[in-house]
Amino acid sequence: MDYFKNKTVLVTGAAGFIGSHLVDALLVAEARVLGVDNLITGRMENLQHLYDVEAKKSSHERFEFVQADAGKFPDEYLPVEVNLDAVFHLASPASPPRYQAHPVATYLINTVGTHNLLTYLKQKYPGARFLFASTSEVYGDPEVHPQPESYWGNVNPNGERSCYDESKRMGEAICGVFSRKYSMDVRIARIFNTYGPRIDPTDGRVIPNLATQALKGEPLTVYGDGSQTRSYCYVSDLVRGLMLLMSVDKAKGETVNLGNPEEHSIMETARIIEEAVRGPDAELKIEYMDLPKDDPTR
Ligand code: UDP
Repeated sequence: MDYFKNKTVLVTGAAGFIGSHLVDALLVAEARVLGVDNLITGRMENLQHLYDVEAKKSSHERFEFVQADAGKFPDEYLPVEVNLDAVFHLASPASPPRYQAHPVATYLINTVGTHNLLTYLKQKYPGARFLFASTSEVYGDPEVHPQPESYWGNVNPNGERSCYDESKRMGEAICGVFSRKYSMDVRIARIFNTYGPRIDPTDGRVIPNLATQALKGEPLTVYGDGSQTRSYCYVSDLVRGLMLLMSVDKAKGETVNLGNPEEHSIMETARIIEEAVRGPDAELKIEYMDLPKDDPTR
């Protein structure tokens, strides 16, 4: 993608599952990349091919990493000489067990963090592009299927998932304010369930959970009766979507769903994973568990 050649790009959440793949793809596209992560859920092993943790030194000439809370005002952690062209704001715990373990950090990074980053850009680099990583969870437990971007959602404002769902919605609202009031170039990606290499096997989401259990020969944990559905996007497709959304001129101000349109029930997902790991004749052993509160049905 030519747009990124020689551009300076900030990626918040760079040590995360999606963030680290995005960093790799941006480097291939010949961008200079500055990664920031406070490692609350990100893992330096995702960047080990680019950064020597012991020496605290990047091993790629166009990559720099700063361990910091990206939600602070960026003057506090960015190198002074940086000249930003684009910011991908991906920093946030993202799996339900993780954001529920860090509810305050989660709502702060998506709201105050988004506000601070946009305020900084407005003051210093008003022409820079800003992409906010939102989520399919802004639709809550949707009553419309599949969800078009124009659907406003069905979200519990004060439930187990609200620290994430509502802060992503507020993050979108903040992007809208900076776009309308200050004419800034913002783009919003609503990311659906994503999987692939480097996903934290302990993060509690359905694909890493079931894949880890299948590899160990353990029963697969299905929450509820397994009839709820999800769509799963492979990480390289998602990263390509994020980069297109950032680089295409006419996507300025747009909000775009990024995911896979194919819908699978959790039970079907368990069957696919069991077969892929243990072969077509493997007997599917399920451990049924309670459905978490406010778990979307589709
Ligand atoms: N789920 C499950 N077993 C697991 C983990 C998750 O049945 O070990 C279910 C969960 O209840 C939800 C779906 O799988 O209905 C997807 O959950 P995930 O945590 O991946 O993310 P969500 O899409 O709910 O944010």
